[in-house]
Amino acid sequence: MHEYGIAQEIVSTALECARAEKAERITRVHIEMSALADESEDSLQMYLETLARGTLAESAVFDIARVSVSAQCLDCQTTFTLAELGRLCSRCGSAGVVMQGRAEFKMTGIEVE
Ligand SMILES: [Zn+2]
Repeated sequence: MHEYGIAQEIVSTALECARAEKAERITRVHIEMSALADESEDSLQMYLETLARGTLAESAVFDIARVSVSAQCLDCQTTFTLAELGRLCSRCGSAGVVMQGRAEFKMTGIEVE
């Protein structure tokens, strides 16, 4: 499962940060998920909780925020944000749209105690 690999990466990054800050436990993990990602938010949440068991992140809340992605139209060069897949250019209606910044998942921060 793709979500499992993503969850593993998020949990290990969060634990590294917590160790660097000499934290006793992680209370919250902030995660940004691209609005275009087709992974299931529910399974990601489930894997995160499973992987966090027995670690500093055991009782953490995983806060997944959907963020829109910036895109550029190849025909009219307009830059706009995409909130969902399969959108056309907001200005000229062209389907020749390239997405910028494909990072689909990102741990943006943790809160610790
Ligand atoms: Zn356009």
